[in-house]
Amino acid sequence: MTSTKATTTPMMAQYLEIKAAHPDAILFYRMGDFYEMFFDDAVAAAEALDIALTKRGKHDGQDIPMCGVPHHAAEGYFLTLIRKGFRVAVCEQMESPAEAKKRGYKAVVKREVVRLVTPGTLTEDSLLDARRHNFLAAYHSVRDQGALAWVDISTGAFHVMPCSGPQLGPELARLTPREVIVADGAEADWAGIVSDSGATLTTLGAAAFDSVSGEKRLCSVYKVGSLDAFGNFGRAEVGAMSAVAEYLDITQRGNLPLLRPPVQEGQSAAMQIDAATRRSLELSHAMNGGRQGSLLHCIDRTVTAGGARLLERRLASPSCNVDMIAGRLDAVGFLADQARLTEDIRGNLRGVHDMDRALSRLALDRGGPRDMAAIRNTIGQAIALSQRLPDDLPPNLATATQDLTGHEALLDLLDEALIAEPPLLSRDGGFIAPGYDAELDEVRTLRDEGRSVIAGMQADYIEQSGVPSLKIKHNNVLGYFIETTATHAGKMMAAPLSETFIHRQTTANQVRFTTVALSEIETRILNAGGRALEIEKRLYSSLTEAIVAQAGPLGALARALSEIDLNAGLAQLAVTEGWVRPKVDDSRAFEISGGRHPVVEAALQKDGAPFIANDCGLTETPIWLLTGPNMAGKSTFLRQNALLAILAQMGSFVPATGAHIGIVSQLFSRVGASDDLARGRSTFMVEMVETAAILNQADDRALVILDEIGRGTATYDGLSIAWATLEHLHDVNRCRALFATHYHEMSALSAKLDGVDNATVTVKEWEGDVIFLHEVKRGTADRSYGVQVARLAGLPPVVVERAKVVLEALEKGEREGGGAQKAIIDDLPLFSATPAPIQSAPKPSEIEDRLRAVHPDELSPRDALDLIYELRSKL
Ligand code: ADP
Repeated sequence: MTSTKATTTPMMAQYLEIKAAHPDAILFYRMGDFYEMFFDDAVAAAEALDIALTKRGKHDGQDIPMCGVPHHAAEGYFLTLIRKGFRVAVCEQMESPAEAKKRGYKAVVKREVVRLVTPGTLTEDSLLDARRHNFLAAYHSVRDQGALAWVDISTGAFHVMPCSGPQLGPELARLTPREVIVADGAEADWAGIVSDSGATLTTLGAAAFDSVSGEKRLCSVYKVGSLDAFGNFGRAEVGAMSAVAEYLDITQRGNLPLLRPPVQEGQSAAMQIDAATRRSLELSHAMNGGRQGSLLHCIDRTVTAGGARLLERRLASPSCNVDMIAGRLDAVGFLADQARLTEDIRGNLRGVHDMDRALSRLALDRGGPRDMAAIRNTIGQAIALSQRLPDDLPPNLATATQDLTGHEALLDLLDEALIAEPPLLSRDGGFIAPGYDAELDEVRTLRDEGRSVIAGMQADYIEQSGVPSLKIKHNNVLGYFIETTATHAGKMMAAPLSETFIHRQTTANQVRFTTVALSEIETRILNAGGRALEIEKRLYSSLTEAIVAQAGPLGALARALSEIDLNAGLAQLAVTEGWVRPKVDDSRAFEISGGRHPVVEAALQKDGAPFIANDCGLTETPIWLLTGPNMAGKSTFLRQNALLAILAQMGSFVPATGAHIGIVSQLFSRVGASDDLARGRSTFMVEMVETAAILNQADDRALVILDEIGRGTATYDGLSIAWATLEHLHDVNRCRALFATHYHEMSALSAKLDGVDNATVTVKEWEGDVIFLHEVKRGTADRSYGVQVARLAGLPPVVVERAKVVLEALEKGEREGGGAQKAIIDDLPLFSATPAPIQSAPKPSEIEDRLRAVHPDELSPRDALDLIYELRSKL
């Protein structure tokens, strides 16, 4: 595409040159009010955006495919393209056509790519989910050291941590970045892991990861002599951070966003939860991919976007540090005890804006007056909030409160400078408050006076001309003009009126004039208007500067607000849902009384059904083997205990009447796998790969949840694998575990292994039906009630009856210990595929038989009553 033939127009030559520098992005080429796309870009974009594909001119004798979108609507198109996996290079006109003409008759308007839009580098509110982070990450390894750095450019938060290769998957699952950068040539190693996490993979030249030049680059970004001020970083860490900085430089074209000083995260601080566990527990996304139905959605009572993002982060990485957890629980507890205060705090927080993102847009010069107002209003609310908070706060809240104030000077400045509700964009002016700048006030008066002078002129001209319908109007082409109907035009164009009124335009019904006085005033208005805009622009820049200069402390303010919001939200949740403070320590305890599954409970509540609370105690016997029929509530019980551990360690109260949890360092949850067809693995294979991961990794601090392991294969295979897995967990991993199975045979293990106890979810049988009590008790299930559950599910009666017969025969065979299964099955009475309905129906009960024999018309009232007594006695 680079060859520019003689037939190529100068504009097309420019296009091709720019496009050649951005082969992997769709080039949005600005032409006046449109962005246009050509060639393959046009074909791809037209399809992805569902817009018309047309043609424009020829290249090498071929039609050039083209499509276009209006520039003011471009954001929406960016988003669609990014969601579909494209990246976009935005190429703007760097001068006006008039300026280009000055350079020469045929000169093409200068154009440059000013920005690359990629999933990890979005800042516009309309392109972002306010309540979610939007991370860009870079992974780098030097020999056996690996590091992961990530930034949210919409807030400037920048983090880095050591991260070995095997850990990358779990870390990406925790952070869920939108885009991950790796070095050219290393993509083969990481592509699978990155795409599993749902992120887009981007490669950068190896030089971007170089730690020596990287250190220099980062020092210049932060204007420091050495990175030591921020921590002690390894080569891999510097490399990963440097790649992030380089990529921001490339995509933002040197307009580097606000980057907060890098925060080094330790590796062992958080509970390790791998991607499969996060999915199976539906922590931040439900199985269907949405937020609804996830734990996050269920516990989110925050009222600010920053608070919601902090909650997401906390939930993604529950702590393993007992003191940190206690500190967080103190804060939640304090606010839970003071419900009134908490409600008031939440009231203040509702007036808070997304300051982090406003700040970052201003720093990137993508903001507007409304972002400034957001910062102003937020500072105001923060001051009001700090006045409301009492002195005796627990340490976490006290620290946050300190950051709420100290911005009074900036608040005064913004208060004085901005009108109450400024427009989104600075382009049209009108956002600086009167009284702030004397010169601006003056030119504005001039402009406005001019307008009122014009309004007065109309009356004068009517009198002078004697045309009562004469009007002064304005449009963008003519500016101000005098308009009369065609009937009066002759008079106006004749002397003496023609000396004053100068003809400008005749339309179908109207004739338009101007006068020297009108033009003069118009020029004055225009000049004053232009001057006002200029002044506002200058003031806008200086306000931006004043705000960005405070980026550090304003960031701390935003964090403080998020922290208070998070705690107030968790307190409100605890109070309204009746949750309690868990005891978290360094023991290996796991004692839950009256535990509930918050998401299932909330769903049941909607239907008015109660949730049955259950105890769980793994302190004495660390492994529970849970049996019980399908639908009894096994999975619910398993998951609720995992969720309780997560909630407790993230610093939240828990849905239980009591909880004592010794730190859980790793959490594994596997639920009878579903097919992973996308990766070409069978159910069973997925299950085994995941089970292997647990058996190889879980240590004695782990909590393991295994639900129906071995279901995906033949009975005896499955049973043997489940059996051996449980033994391994008990003997080797020595972890706490909840193990649900439908292999009742496994209950025998509790007799052999000290650390294994049997538990079952109770059901009651009533007239051949099962009733689920959802109560978890010590002991084993006597039967699996599969046939009854099948009946509840609506299996045809004939199949249910037949299943009963087969089951009875099999059970009998097993009891008598006799013949092989095959012999039992061979002996079964033949199943007739099309039985007469009466044969297949269950045998009528005694009550039914008795009722059939009754002739109601022949019964006396007394007989009828006796009959009822008789029937009742047969129940
Ligand atoms: P299993 O794993 O034994 O097949 P589930 O845990 O999937 O059963 O539970 C099946 C359904 O039973 C759930 O969707 C829920 O509606 C209900 N359920 C489970 N546990 C409880 C409980 N403790 N209290 C009330 N209803 C429950």
